[in-house]
Amino acid sequence: MKAISVIGAGTMGRGIAYTCAAHGFHVTVHDIEEKALKSCENYIEEQFQKAIEKGKISEFDAERAKNSIVYTTNIKQAAQSADLIIEAVLEIMDLKIRIFKELDQYTKPETILATNTSTMSPTEIAAQTNRPDKCIALHFFNPVPKMKLIEVICGLETSEETVEKCFAFGKAIGKECVKINEFPGFAVSRMNCLIGNEAMNMVMEGVGSVEDIDKAIKLGLNHPMGPLELADLVGLDTRLRNMEYLYQTLGEKYRPCPLLRKYVKAGWLGKKTGKGFYEYK
Ligand code: NAD
Repeated sequence: MKAISVIGAGTMGRGIAYTCAAHGFHVTVHDIEEKALKSCENYIEEQFQKAIEKGKISEFDAERAKNSIVYTTNIKQAAQSADLIIEAVLEIMDLKIRIFKELDQYTKPETILATNTSTMSPTEIAAQTNRPDKCIALHFFNPVPKMKLIEVICGLETSEETVEKCFAFGKAIGKECVKINEFPGFAVSRMNCLIGNEAMNMVMEGVGSVEDIDKAIKLGLNHPMGPLELADLVGLDTRLRNMEYLYQTLGEKYRPCPLLRKYVKAGWLGKKTGKGFYEYK
């Protein structure tokens, strides 16, 4: 694999695009919003700058990698020459299906189509294409450049060859892969959403302050981040969509905390809007 296209230039898409470019892949980023593409470009610029300062990449290589990235609002252009396409749009099944149908139409028959869904069924998405054997979920973690793991989730018809190619791709961008069979929320989101939701319920019930609950979990359970600061980093809108899907598919214990719903209604989406469980300057 040489050419990677990323569909959706938000929190995850930009991280995936940067990581692939920094490891020598030709990257094309597609979003419907010019603004999202511009902000992705700025983010990638900053990441390369930081990598140069830390001595992780030479200025020459960073410049070459940056210049090779194509930003486009045209999905056909993004699909045409890719070997692997990673979709990272909103966690909405109908939207993901629509995009996979388009990609299936525009791209080479051998191209692998991956979704970065946190919770949803790759089988359901793959079933709408003519290549279910080449569809898979590659679940990256936030922030992508730092987080080591990719959960590789096989749908019902995903071929072993597709899995092997994805493991090789993961290794080539410096990640560790685990193979997970499809079930709502896979391994990590299923566990993480439950912890985060319980922390939100605890805030709502007055068990402790946001800071103290996060501190308790960090120091008491040895988690590197508190569940509330992590939810803010993920984006509370994204987390709510994840919870809603898990509630529908796995039942009562995933009922989204009312406080989470209230914050999303207020436009408090976490770090990306400057306010969530914490305030950001
Ligand atoms: P986000 O809201 O930050 O970004 C989504 C991007 O998709 C936006 O830039 C939007 O303009 C773009 N978009 C919307 N419709 C589009 C379309 N039709 N075509 C092209 N682009 C379109 O979302 P995110 O947090 O990056 O999440 C993306 C996916 O990654 C979701 O499925 C989410 O569950 C998953 N995920 C998120 C995290 C996280 O921490 N945020 C972690 C792992 C997985």
